[in-house]
Amino acid sequence: MIEFEEELNQRLSALREQNLFRELRRIDSPQSPHVEIGGKPFLNFSSNDYLGLANDPLLREAAIEAVKQFGVGSGSSRLICGSLAPHHQLEEALADFKKTEAALVFSTGYAAALGTICALAGKDDILIADKLIHASIIDAARLSGAKIRIFAHNDLDDLEKILKWATTKPVSGVWLAKESPRVFIVTESVFSMDGDFAPLREIVELKEKYGAWLMVDEAHATGIFGKEGRGFAESCGVADRIEIQMGTLGKAFGASGGYIAGSRRLIDYLINRARSFIFSTAPVSAAAAAATCAVHFVKSKSGDDRRHSLWQRVAELQARLNLQNTKASAIVPLLLGEEKKAIETATALRALGILIPAIRYPTVARGAARLRITVTATHSEGDIKQLHSALANLGLLSDEKPRPSNA
Ligand SMILES: *Cc1c(COP(=O)(O)O)cnc(C)c1O
Repeated sequence: MIEFEEELNQRLSALREQNLFRELRRIDSPQSPHVEIGGKPFLNFSSNDYLGLANDPLLREAAIEAVKQFGVGSGSSRLICGSLAPHHQLEEALADFKKTEAALVFSTGYAAALGTICALAGKDDILIADKLIHASIIDAARLSGAKIRIFAHNDLDDLEKILKWATTKPVSGVWLAKESPRVFIVTESVFSMDGDFAPLREIVELKEKYGAWLMVDEAHATGIFGKEGRGFAESCGVADRIEIQMGTLGKAFGASGGYIAGSRRLIDYLINRARSFIFSTAPVSAAAAAATCAVHFVKSKSGDDRRHSLWQRVAELQARLNLQNTKASAIVPLLLGEEKKAIETATALRALGILIPAIRYPTVARGAARLRITVTATHSEGDIKQLHSALANLGLLSDEKPRPSNA
């Protein structure tokens, strides 16, 4: 016991020395642009609750109704003790929303990635992922045993080079393992820590040219891009050419869970082979009901209104930060580099009543620490102003043009 505790102490000290130690900050209020920590109010620019649905009365009511009708626990895996109606309603709503034949819901997006990739790819296969792909995909790829190849971020030439390699018969004329390996490409549509976009159209063309299969993680795009919020792939006009569409119910949808949308065969196969689905208790019905409510909300006129406010707030922030992005997401990274600098800046912002955590290794590369600002539809114009003055106060906007003090 003593040795164990000493070892842990050493490991924790090493993290502290590298400015990589993390701790939880208890919030005593619902997720919203204004949260309470230790009795003090904070302006929150750190949540992925892009449409402000996490504490929406409609979703709350849907969750409460589900608890009244179906109770709290789900009893077991959906294959064992029966699959509760709220999960089916959610999957039907998702398939309809994504315009796919079917959808399958997992307890989290992380579980969806793990279950799906491991079900589809094995040690004889090749999985090609963008350099900035989310940890859930990396973990899944490793667990699957597939050969992993990483292409430089959004670099189509590099991707094509790897595709050529992966699909060329070896000189010996025989593939090491199978007649020919299955080749999977995995990318995010909007990248979680940089907020930039994948060239999805071109990636779809490449995967078709080389006969590869494509999985797109729309965690930061579903609900906010595309017609009725269907995602970035829909807005690029390529959604129906992507084999595996993944997303989370915990971000713009304001609830909890993850999903895969695709063909009926894909979903039937995952029900039979995705271990994170099979060997895990089904999510609580309250989460499914809240997510179903969110899917309907996102498609509705109210969803359009929320997206309108979101993009208005994003444009205001962009203008204040002198960012001339033609295509913006709701994620605005302020790169600081050193981990220490990021922590100090986040601490200084907290002193000014603003909550933006320092994003550090292993979430991003070492030396690429940053503040990751996320804007939501429920921020006000005043909130954006307050954020801007705090950043200016800390000298983080040094290269900006002077603004009139009443701006
Ligand atoms: C958040 C996130 C996930 C995981 O989804 P959860 O529902 O939070 O488990 C997967 N991929 C990306 C890109 C994410 O940002």
